[in-house]
Amino acid sequence: DGTEAGELRVSGLTVRFAGLTALDGVGFTVAPGSVHAIIGPNGAGKSTCFNVLSGVYRASEGSVRFGGAELTALPPHRIAALGVARTFQNIALSRHLSVEDNLMLGRHRLTRAGFASAGLRMPWARGEDARHRARVRDIAAFVGVGEHLAAPVGPLSYGVRKRVELARALAMEPRLLLLDEPVAGMNGAERRRMAEVIRRARADLGLSVLLVEHDMGMVMRLADEVTVLDFGRRIAGGAPAAVQRDPAVIRAYLGA
Ligand code: ADP
Ligand code: MG
Repeated sequence: DGTEAGELRVSGLTVRFAGLTALDGVGFTVAPGSVHAIIGPNGAGKSTCFNVLSGVYRASEGSVRFGGAELTALPPHRIAALGVARTFQNIALSRHLSVEDNLMLGRHRLTRAGFASAGLRMPWARGEDARHRARVRDIAAFVGVGEHLAAPVGPLSYGVRKRVELARALAMEPRLLLLDEPVAGMNGAERRRMAEVIRRARADLGLSVLLVEHDMGMVMRLADEVTVLDFGRRIAGGAPAAVQRDPAVIRAYLGA
């Protein structure tokens, strides 16, 4: 199909709910190792797009190509096994489990699928488990939550929990990260910290990142390319500085 490793190519993506077209023929490409932001007013279809890419919603029409595969017919665990990991707009961690166990859970799901397809039966042999725990510790350190590894997630601060969620996605060893509003609800210091982790996920790990974000400063700093949705349609796209000046984008945000 011609998609390179780490490249995501969305074309003609349409999602209809009863009486409502949430996405209407949307297309964009995430280049390998780039940060691509999807922006748009509330209800524009951003989360719907993520839900289709991760297999939670089914597309009515269109195609999503990643790593030589068509994702639109696949269930979430198959998409994850192909190297697409996501975070949620609202945190989805097990609050009573430790940071380490949350990361191991994310990893376990992936490994089971990996081993099953390799025809092996015992993924949790002791040496394997130690190797996974070591990797999980490295990832926790990478996002700056290493000192919280043994702590239950529930009482941790919001900013730390958001980075734990990103760590859980990274624990699946993805090629593409889907981040839905990664800095929503964060204060300035937490935002800068999260932005730095995302920047390094791309620079140090070579990941492709697709991000839905309301914080325009963050989008301008982080994104190589921006796609703008409004009422389910792609109304603009391109480099952040050009998109910011686009009259169609200004109109959409002013509601004119
Ligand atoms: P955004 O994330 O850009 O704010 P959404 O993708 O959440 O927008 O929603 C786009 C539109 O689709 C909204 O009108 C929303 O109400 C509708 N929508 C989203 N999910 C569903 C669903 N599961 N069933 C029906 N309508 C939905
Ligand atoms: Mg949303």
